[in-house]
Amino acid sequence: MNIDFNKSSDGLVPVIIQNYLNNKVLMLGYMDEEAFNKTQELGKVTFFSRSKNRLWTKGEESGNFLEVKSMAVDCDNDTILIKAKPHGPTCHTGSVTCFNEVSNHGFIYELEQTINDRIDFDDQESYTNKLYKKGLNKVAQKVGEEAVELVIEAKDNNDDLFLNEAADLMYHYLILLKAKGFQLEDVENVLKSRENAPRRPE
Ligand code: AMP
Ligand code: ZN
Ligand code: ZN
Ligand code: ZN
Repeated sequence: MNIDFNKSSDGLVPVIIQNYLNNKVLMLGYMDEEAFNKTQELGKVTFFSRSKNRLWTKGEESGNFLEVKSMAVDCDNDTILIKAKPHGPTCHTGSVTCFNEVSNHGFIYELEQTINDRIDFDDQESYTNKLYKKGLNKVAQKVGEEAVELVIEAKDNNDDLFLNEAADLMYHYLILLKAKGFQLEDVENVLKSRENAPRRPE
């Protein structure tokens, strides 16, 4: 691995630590060349700590080491990515990761991403992709059908069927957005813009 430690005047390179099993980001630290060599020698992530102003093997006091499983360097050799096995919580607060979620779009956005992937990678097995390839009119028609089915179930007393139709509508609605070249975020922005100027949709 050819890492450019001289790109930054302090000789430090940022290092992203991921859990090797689930790819969750655990922490970010910095290494100089010495820390990098030490990391390889020990098989345990060793940073150059800017606050301690010395080499710092993560876990040296707590025992919560980060056991190196793999290392990668980015396209211009100035950032390191390490997949590691954490021996205990990585954060000194006792959290698994140092990163606290500030906002989370949630599952629907993950679903939107899955739909995008099926289509963009032209997945031959995927119902989503097959429907998408039938064209905008077909997708729009499907949304119409699902909306009608939802309305019908809303008048019944079967919660299970109602929820299923609600899910169908949402799923097809996402495909329609994609077919029109939009994403959920575009709709979100419209809704947000209405927040200070409430009015009924026409
Ligand atoms: P440790 O390396 O886990 O033995 O922790 C030694 C000291 O390093 C702690 O008392 C904290 O001051 C600091 N520390 C530990 N883990 C982190 C972390 N993930 N991010 C920042 N500082 C940390
Ligand atoms: Zn690149
Ligand atoms: Zn880079
Ligand atoms: Zn932390």
